[in-house]
Amino acid sequence: MFADLHLHSHYSDGTFTPEEIVARGRKQGLGALSLTDHDTVEGCEMMASECAKVGLEFVVGTELTSEHNDNELHILAYFVDPKNERLLREIAKFQIVRQERIREMVAKINELGVPLKVEDVFALANCQSPGRPHVARTLVKQGMCRTLDEAFERFLKKGRPAWVPKSKMSSLQAIELIHHAGGLAVMAHPGLNRSDEVIPDLVAAGLDGIECFHTKHSPTTAKRYIAMTEKYNLLVTGGSDCHGMSKGRPLIGSVRLSREHFDKLKAKAVEKKTATTNAHQ
Ligand code: AMP
Ligand code: FE
Ligand code: FE
Ligand code: ZN
Repeated sequence: MFADLHLHSHYSDGTFTPEEIVARGRKQGLGALSLTDHDTVEGCEMMASECAKVGLEFVVGTELTSEHNDNELHILAYFVDPKNERLLREIAKFQIVRQERIREMVAKINELGVPLKVEDVFALANCQSPGRPHVARTLVKQGMCRTLDEAFERFLKKGRPAWVPKSKMSSLQAIELIHHAGGLAVMAHPGLNRSDEVIPDLVAAGLDGIECFHTKHSPTTAKRYIAMTEKYNLLVTGGSDCHGMSKGRPLIGSVRLSREHFDKLKAKAVEKKTATTNAHQ
């Protein structure tokens, strides 16, 4: 088994640097990695150069937070051009949404009598695409909560007093944006969403693949989604969704995609890029 195509670094809510991810990936005997930080490609350049140093194949990626019919869906983007202007402009909007949301959540935590400083959360996050885990980690670091779970349970989970909804791009727009940036759009961990009814709409919008193999998918769940890829003629992807040490033991390499599936993904990306180049000539 060859590739881990779902990895987060400290450029979003993971704890590892790209260098640490690559060192661990190599130790695990992986041949290809993708960095899929939430709503950012900030770490991709660094990750590409770390992979090149040790001869690992690297796929530029990001995981876009989106919604369709009130379902939060994560759409993985693979092989996008990390310098594509419209992609960067669009994701920058959502990075600002994330930063504003952190301010609102911290204000609510303050109203509850907990003197958390927003500057401390931003300093710990130290990236363009901060999220709730950074708030939780700051609360723990400063002794205001004992564990990350406690921070989510007391404040940050949906329905808890400091939870703030996040405005998201539409899933159909996300697919269009990914294609515009020369990439492939893949529905992330559908087994976590329990919203399979959205899949036909995504397919109609040009979805390229489904993440069948994921840490939270049982073998039965993986099989169900593989059957769906056959039904709709989609690609199969997989990855661990490793967030570094933030969720206990590092998951990198615990879920792997075969070289056969990886090669099909790559071939489709090349085919699309060739078609786009020809269309522009
Ligand atoms: P955000 O993008 O700011 O909404 O934060 C989402 C991130 O928070 C995801 O990476 C989740 O894995 C993480 N998360 C959500 N709920 C919890 C929880 N109860 N405990 C720990 N992490 C969580
Ligand atoms: Fe995350
Ligand atoms: Fe996700
Ligand atoms: Zn993820």
